[in-house]
Amino acid sequence: MKIGFIGLGNMGAPMARNLLKAGHAVRVFDLDAQAVQALVDAGAQAAGSPKAAATDAECVMTMLPAAAHVRSVLSADDGVLAGIAKGVTIIDSSTIDPASVKAFAELAARHGNSFVDAPVSGGTGGAAAGTLTFMVGGSASAYEEVKPVLAAMGKNIVHCGDTGTGQVAKICNNLVLGITMAGVAEAMSLGEALGIDAKVLGGIINTSTGRCWSSDTYNPMPGVIDSAPSTRGYTGGFGTDLMLKDLGLATDAARFAHQPVYLGALAQQLYQTMSSKGAGRLDFSAVIKLYRDDGRDASNSNGGGA
Ligand code: NAD
Repeated sequence: MKIGFIGLGNMGAPMARNLLKAGHAVRVFDLDAQAVQALVDAGAQAAGSPKAAATDAECVMTMLPAAAHVRSVLSADDGVLAGIAKGVTIIDSSTIDPASVKAFAELAARHGNSFVDAPVSGGTGGAAAGTLTFMVGGSASAYEEVKPVLAAMGKNIVHCGDTGTGQVAKICNNLVLGITMAGVAEAMSLGEALGIDAKVLGGIINTSTGRCWSSDTYNPMPGVIDSAPSTRGYTGGFGTDLMLKDLGLATDAARFAHQPVYLGALAQQLYQTMSSKGAGRLDFSAVIKLYRDDGRDASNSNGGGA
C-alpha cells in the first residue's frame, strides 16, 4: 500500500521502518528533518508537509505527542485533510483523550474519511521488534480494514469497540504503568538503602509476586535489566512528560466519570515533580531519582545514586 506516516519520534520511526520492511511504500513527514532523513535512508520518501504525505496515500498514520499536535496535523492549511482522497482511512496511534478522538472522527467524516484510534503498548522495544499491541477503536469494518496494516507493526491487534475505546484501554493501561513504575522505584530504592544488591533484589521481585513490566523489562534501577533505559542514562524510552500527559488523561477522564483514581493522582504528582525539575525528556523510569537522590539533580542522566 501507499502509506503516509506523520510523526517519526521514538515510536513512529521504528513503526514506519516496519511498514517499509513489510513492503509498503511509505511517505513520511516530521518537523525534525533529521528524523525524516533517517527514514529516507531506510527507503521512505520524504514529504514536505502532512498534506503532501497524505496526497495519493491509501492509508494515513499519525504518531504524535498529544491531541493538539494531531489536531494541527489534520486540519492545518497544509494538513492531512487538505491532501487526502475521500474514503481513505486515517489511523492515529498517538495516546490522546477519547473526546478528542470523537471530534477528529467527526471532522474526518465531514471530509469523507474514517478516523480510527489505534494507540499502542509495548514501548520502543516493541515498536522496533514489530510486536506492539494495538488497541483499536472504530467500527467492525474499519477494524478489518486497518488490521493488515497494523499487523506489520504489531502482534496483538485488538478491537476494543467504538471510536475512542482504544484510547480508553490505553489510558487505563498507562494508569497501571505509571503507578507500578513508582512502586518498583520505591521498592528498589528501599532495598538499596537497606543494603541488598540491586540485581539480587530485582531477580527476587521478578520471580515473585511483585513481578510486573516495570520490574522485569524496564526496571528503574540502573544495571538490573541491561536493555532498560535506566541502564543507558534514562534515554530513548517513554518520556516523563508523556507519562505525565497520560496520567493527566486518566485523571481528567476519571473526573468526567465521577470515578476516584487515588494512586493515579499521587503518581501524577511524582512525574510532575520530575518534569518541574527539568527531567521531562528523560525516560519515565527516572522517577527513581526522587528516591535515590531526592531529585536534587533529576535532569542529570547519569543514573543518580544515593
Ligand atoms: P516523541 O516525542 O519521541 O515523537 C513525537 C514526534 O512527533 C517527534 O519526532 C516530533 O518532531 C513529531 N511532531 C510533533 N509535532 C509534529 C507536527 N506538528 N508535525 C509533524 N511531526 C510532529 O514521542 P513518542 O515517544 O514517539 O510517542 C508518540 C506517541 O505515542 C505519544 O502520544 C506517546 O504517549 C505514545 N506512546 C509512546 C510510547 C513510548 O514508549 N515512547 C509507548 C506507547 C505510546
